[in-house]
Amino acid sequence: MRVEDHAPLAAGADDLCLPVYVFEPAVRQAHDFDASHQRFINQSLLELDASLRQRGAQLLLLSGDVPEVFEKLHEAIPFSRIVSHEETGNAITYKRDLALKEWTRRKGIEWLEYTQTGVVRRLKSRDLWAGKWLERMTKPIIEAPPRLILPPHLDNFSFSLMPDAVSSKVTQPGGESRAKETLVSFLSSRGRNYQKEMSSPLTAESSCSRLSPYITWGNISLKRVYQASRQVKKAEWQPSMRSFQSRLWWHCHFMQKLEDEPEIEFRNFSRAYDGLREDEFNQTYFQAWCEGMTGYPFVDACMRALHQTSWINFRMRAMLVSFAAYHLWLHWKPCADFLAKHFLDYEPGIHYSQFQMQSGVTGINTIRIYSPAKQAAEQDPHGLFIRQYVPELANLPTQYLARPELTPPLVQQLYGLRIGVDYPEPIVDEKLALSQAKERIFALRKTAFALAEADRVQAKHGSRRT
Ligand SMILES: Cc1cc2nc3c(=O)[nH]c(=O)nc-3n(C[C@H](O)[C@H](O)[C@H](O)COP(=O)(O)OP(=O)(O)OC[C@H]3O[C@@H](n4cnc5c(N)ncnc54)[C@H](O)[C@@H]3O)c2cc1C
Repeated sequence: MRVEDHAPLAAGADDLCLPVYVFEPAVRQAHDFDASHQRFINQSLLELDASLRQRGAQLLLLSGDVPEVFEKLHEAIPFSRIVSHEETGNAITYKRDLALKEWTRRKGIEWLEYTQTGVVRRLKSRDLWAGKWLERMTKPIIEAPPRLILPPHLDNFSFSLMPDAVSSKVTQPGGESRAKETLVSFLSSRGRNYQKEMSSPLTAESSCSRLSPYITWGNISLKRVYQASRQVKKAEWQPSMRSFQSRLWWHCHFMQKLEDEPEIEFRNFSRAYDGLREDEFNQTYFQAWCEGMTGYPFVDACMRALHQTSWINFRMRAMLVSFAAYHLWLHWKPCADFLAKHFLDYEPGIHYSQFQMQSGVTGINTIRIYSPAKQAAEQDPHGLFIRQYVPELANLPTQYLARPELTPPLVQQLYGLRIGVDYPEPIVDEKLALSQAKERIFALRKTAFALAEADRVQAKHGSRRT
């Protein structure tokens, strides 16, 4: 959803060219799609259409399953070639790609797919992957084509967006120009203290790049972002820029895992962990986690922030998942599906890999369990974030905010708060829940099968960065 650094569009400019976007019912009705995603897509498509019109073209918006849509389009306007970016998406888009491949084969139509990130199709080994990533990121930026020539007889087609489904969330607006503005503001002022300020939700909101939805939906290329960050020369910015560039690398590193093993959308990286949490899924805990009503204020504040804005920083995402996985012993899959809808930047390759990593089921990553109270003390020491998103606790003195259940009854009375009535008691006893969780996961990690699986996962997916 951009015109700059868009290899397929540039290739299309060599001939008659019809830019097409297809609204796919299977994607729009899926468990991981949200009204806020649709709104962002619509905003992006409106701007894209305007950009294409300035170049003598326009965007054709169609709706339906892709092979059927293309069959009808082909009857109306015969074409011999489809050009697109490669996509590493969820099972639905993977299946669609296979169906489209089959359709193009039957029709004798050429389908050219261009790379757009560091993800490598049909990768044989991870060994030289990092070098390939750098090679891709340092290639020249592709200019937007100045002119495009549409085929004739397009009068029967109209430009109509899918209606915006109602979303009460206040999210970042979509579009290529917004993406560029966000990049410029990050690299000229907001990003200076990125490295130091990325972990607290208070500072991360402005010190993180906030580029993720634009990268996910294709409003800006990863290559452009990488190259722009390399242009920042001020010495005091360098630690932040290095951290930022590592994360752009991680973006593709995690997506490569889904590309290489699409099954990780549904099952554990390490099969040794199969059955660990599945049979004990506690629906009440899950509900409380989803609603931001666990009785752990920092966890609840993060979840409620997501309900309102569809974005939160990395550390808080990790804490939310660690809490679900260890404190509540919830299997990652329903939690990942739930948050996919609540992340405007939902990118399946990063999402499922990160979810499994933070839940301890990859077999190769260090087990990280975040204590919500410790995180609150470090990342929100004055309780500003908690007060903003958990208004029931807004009046409580800071010393009680992270563990409000410990507030003496008289103090509760003084501040007009009844723990257990106005705000829940903690749904689990942290000490007990964590000791049980640690015992189970560390015992499993030592088994021969888990060790063999760790070797297998490491060989297939492990980073070879060093
Ligand atoms: C459980 C969990 C789920 C996640 N799901 C997603 C997701 O669906 N989509 C998504 O884009 N990110 C996801 N992340 C990674 C990360 O939290 C977000 O990329 C980041 O918070 C987005 O904000 P930003 O653009 O300001 O990031 P910045 O910190 O400014 O980073 C710049 C870019 O680098 C990439 N990036 C940053 N951190 C990571 C990371 N840890 N792993 C991979 N790439 C990274 C993203 O493309 C991001 O836009 C997830 C993290 C966790 C713990």
